[in-house]
Amino acid sequence: MKRVGLIVVNTGGGKGKTTSALGMMLRSCGYDMKGVMIQFIKGSWFYGEKKSFIRLAPNFKLITAGRGFVGILDDKLPRDEHKVAAKKALDISLKEVRNRENDVVVLDEINYAVNLGLISEDDVIFIIEQKYPSVHLILTGNFATEKIIELADTVTEMKEIKHAYQKGKKAQIGIDY
Ligand code: ATP
Ligand code: MG
Repeated sequence: MKRVGLIVVNTGGGKGKTTSALGMMLRSCGYDMKGVMIQFIKGSWFYGEKKSFIRLAPNFKLITAGRGFVGILDDKLPRDEHKVAAKKALDISLKEVRNRENDVVVLDEINYAVNLGLISEDDVIFIIEQKYPSVHLILTGNFATEKIIELADTVTEMKEIKHAYQKGKKAQIGIDY
């Protein structure tokens, strides 16, 4: 069967956008497929995924190009540094989506990077256009733009019903990070 590389978008305000992408990587590992997750925003203190990728090696690897949260929490970095990091993530992404050896490429939180103005919508469209036909491309993050939704094959909007955070229950290891 000839594979058709899909464009998958996980967006919306509810939890599960990144974990769904991780789930697809775990699933494709079962078929000995290969690929990479490139993190656009996180990077400074989310280590759960980093450890998990040791288990998915050598099939899958994680590249953390982002410089942590932007504008919130402990962010003390100048915006330009976030932009430089996002641009670096874009360059890496372009190389990975063009690589026919990859089966699954995840651009994690790329929709946020657009929403925050670190990269442009056109940057993402260019990446989608440059994708090698057999590569499955997964884009995550809330606020996916209309054009990106239009270009995608499968789009899921995570809808929050409730989140433990609202009851003051802190982020939990393995579940939230
Ligand atoms: P996850 O990584 O758990 O799949 P996500 O990718 O859908 O979540 P992000 O916006 O990337 O969501 O945020 C990641 C972190 O924020 C996780 O720790 C997650 O539990 C938490 N989170 C996600 N959605 C919400 C929400 N609606 N309210 C509070 N915290 C949230
Ligand atoms: Mg996420």
